[in-house]
Amino acid sequence: THAPITITLTGAGGQIGYAALFRIAAGDLLGPDQPVALRLLEIPQGMRAAEGAALELADCAFPTLASVEIADDANVAFDGANVALLVGSRPRSAGMERGDLLAANGAIFGPQGRAINDRAADDVRVVVVGNPANTNALIAQQHAPDVPSERFTALTRLDHNRAVGLLAAEAGTPVADISGVTIWGNHSATQYPDLSHATVRGRPALDIVDASWARGPYIERVAQRGAEIIEVRGGSSVASAANAAIEHTRDWLLGTGERSAGHWTSAAVVSRGEYGVPAGLISSFPVTSAGGNWSVVEGLDIDAFSRERIDASVAELAAERDAVQELGLI
Ligand code: NDP
Repeated sequence: THAPITITLTGAGGQIGYAALFRIAAGDLLGPDQPVALRLLEIPQGMRAAEGAALELADCAFPTLASVEIADDANVAFDGANVALLVGSRPRSAGMERGDLLAANGAIFGPQGRAINDRAADDVRVVVVGNPANTNALIAQQHAPDVPSERFTALTRLDHNRAVGLLAAEAGTPVADISGVTIWGNHSATQYPDLSHATVRGRPALDIVDASWARGPYIERVAQRGAEIIEVRGGSSVASAANAAIEHTRDWLLGTGERSAGHWTSAAVVSRGEYGVPAGLISSFPVTSAGGNWSVVEGLDIDAFSRERIDASVAELAAERDAVQELGLI
């Protein structure tokens, strides 16, 4: 048997936390042979909800769940963490200015980055879910100078999965037939779901679906899917967001492996200047993972339409970075 892997989840009393905890404890993240030790971080008003989730976790008697601890102190919650899932954040409320939103999140993700720096295990890997996810990840990373910068990532896997699902529906094919879909840029309305390299059963997707759909309504539908879920369901996406966080983390730790060439996923990782994205921004790319490290899939041909879309989303990321710099948050 293996030693437990410590997984710290912030916002553990929230909805996404509730959806993620049981799957992680059941072994969906690291498999049925790998015990997990869960650390739940909450702010005081979320503590009772986290405590309730912990009681239910006990009542599941999962063989893979080694322990559950709850804390409202980041230095306790991140102590020895191998994986940090940063879900809790300050969402935008009506009438809130962007500067206020960034400042509120700076107050959350700065101290968490520092606690990760000081307390987490040497192999810590960080996945930011709470919005604005890419910039929250950048804030945390900038407060963790002793952690390799590429250990900080943000979630665009839900956007990726939405893009795959909506393409499959349009092509009238199972999702297993789809590969080569990419989400570029920011996890926001400017994200660019790109089908120019996508295939359906090995054929170019743009030979199967209408190119004007792929470069118009499709992009809008993927980017607005969160709003569509809220409209239909009466609440934001929860189970699909938790699922995406688990898939991102599992692929990162265990690898995208046996998938053949042209099969990749999307994640927001630190740019090293690939595809003209300024180095240091945490931006979504086509990625594969091996040996616990993401690699950007390089050498893809970027046409003029894609160039414009990628540049627009990356410009938004650069503006967010500049704003948090001006606010003294990084
Ligand atoms: P959720 O669990 O539904 O969402 C958590 C965060 O994930 C939100 O900021 C949300 O941003 C974001 N998110 C990212 N992608 C998605 C997506 N596709 N769909 C929905 N949400 C997405 O929020 P709750 O309010 O239920 O729970 C938040 C919890 O976090 C609370 O219990 C609160 O107490 C806690 N919290 C903990 C902190 C800490 O541990 N230090 C700090 C701050 C809060 P968006 O709304 O923009 O979609």
